[in-house]
Amino acid sequence: MRYSVFVLVVLVGHHCEAGNLQAGAAAIDITPLKLPVSMTGSFQDRKATGVHDRLHARSLVLADGRTRIALVIIDSCLIPRNIHDKAKGIASGRTGIPTSCILTAATHTHTAPTALKAAQCTPDPQYLEYLTKQIAESVVVANGRLQPAEIGWGVAAAPDQINNRRWFIKPEAMTANPFGRTDDLVRMNPPRGTDVLIRPAGPVDPDVTFLSVRATDGAALSLLANYGLHYVGGIAPGQLSADYFGAFSRQIGTRLKGGKDFVGIMSNGASGDVNNYDFLNPRPRAASYERMERVAEIVADGVHGVHGAVPFRSDAVLRTCEREIELDVRKPDAVELKRARQLFDNAADAQRLNMEELYAQESIRLHDADPTVRLKLQTFTVGELAIVAIPCEVFAEIGLEIKRRSPFRTTFVIELANGYNGYLPTPQQHALGGYETWRSGWSYLETDASTTITETTVQMLQSLRAERNRSAEPQPD
Ligand SMILES: [Zn+2]
Repeated sequence: MRYSVFVLVVLVGHHCEAGNLQAGAAAIDITPLKLPVSMTGSFQDRKATGVHDRLHARSLVLADGRTRIALVIIDSCLIPRNIHDKAKGIASGRTGIPTSCILTAATHTHTAPTALKAAQCTPDPQYLEYLTKQIAESVVVANGRLQPAEIGWGVAAAPDQINNRRWFIKPEAMTANPFGRTDDLVRMNPPRGTDVLIRPAGPVDPDVTFLSVRATDGAALSLLANYGLHYVGGIAPGQLSADYFGAFSRQIGTRLKGGKDFVGIMSNGASGDVNNYDFLNPRPRAASYERMERVAEIVADGVHGVHGAVPFRSDAVLRTCEREIELDVRKPDAVELKRARQLFDNAADAQRLNMEELYAQESIRLHDADPTVRLKLQTFTVGELAIVAIPCEVFAEIGLEIKRRSPFRTTFVIELANGYNGYLPTPQQHALGGYETWRSGWSYLETDASTTITETTVQMLQSLRAERNRSAEPQPD
């Protein structure tokens, strides 16, 4: 195994005067102008023909007098790096915020237009252009709304809405994987409420971490939350929806009595292996949208419950660090490639591949792909609050490890940020197998990738910690 880590950009901003924090927030509509449109989130292409609730790019811009940062959360499933980079370039040109100080991430709603070619879903180039423009617009509008502000942060708990979806199950219930092997030790989404279940293969992170922003007169301006839940679903067929991410944004606004410009934001935490199914005690089937509203309500209640005790301040200092790393791509060996070519060449319908044929196609693609890939990592700090951005579907235990090792008092991880590089299991989870480890366009990083990513982001946090320690800021806060 080889990996190389090289630093392309390290930007550290700091400022030592107290009390001049400014904030601005905006939610810009990114719902497609034309329907039908391809939706991601499933192996076969599905078409959206209606809109249940509007999709948005939600931005929070913070400024401390020297450094400005933009945090942008987008109602989309998967967004490729080139769209993130293009949108940041436009936003930076129009606001002067350096691209390295802009974090853009998808929520992972599975009912948004396809923005990345994956499985058998292909994006509409016109929508991609619109999406890019609207992401940038959201930063521009939020930046234009900068006003003196106070911020506070806290952590609520919502342990009952999340479950690890990878399970050890009785061997007789283990199915063959699409590579024709039966050596997986865990299964994703095993049959619920059955006696084949043994135990989950990983943990969940119950924390809902939030950053709350208010005007100097106390009026709520924005709240950015972070929770590790893949998505909820239960959307009626053919409908676009921001899922519980959008519902949370509305509900937290109501609870905090935010005005019409209040922007609630839910970012996705490390949730690559976490969903909302209760495997041991399955719930009866809910009506469309009921479940996502219910989860949003519980999470918003949790945040609201601790929000009253949060201290607010206007002297938090902003810092950012951005690095690129290069990782190996997992490639099929000669035997695997031969099997893949046979399967793919004999596919009955090249436009509608079955699972084995689809993974065969992915193996051929990965064989032809570059041997390495670059990933962008970011860490931002707001006083004693740290934010880590990773361009993958990150397993919960990785997020927990970063939180544990962070030298900042409160830390959270935003996944699917600044690009898309597939699932991020740990090496131990790779050894267990299961869907998230199956080599494909959505799981292709070297098996040690999480080790490198965790080490790098912790080092980045440590460098920001050292900056803060050297500064004249009052500590800890
Ligand atoms: Zn997903």
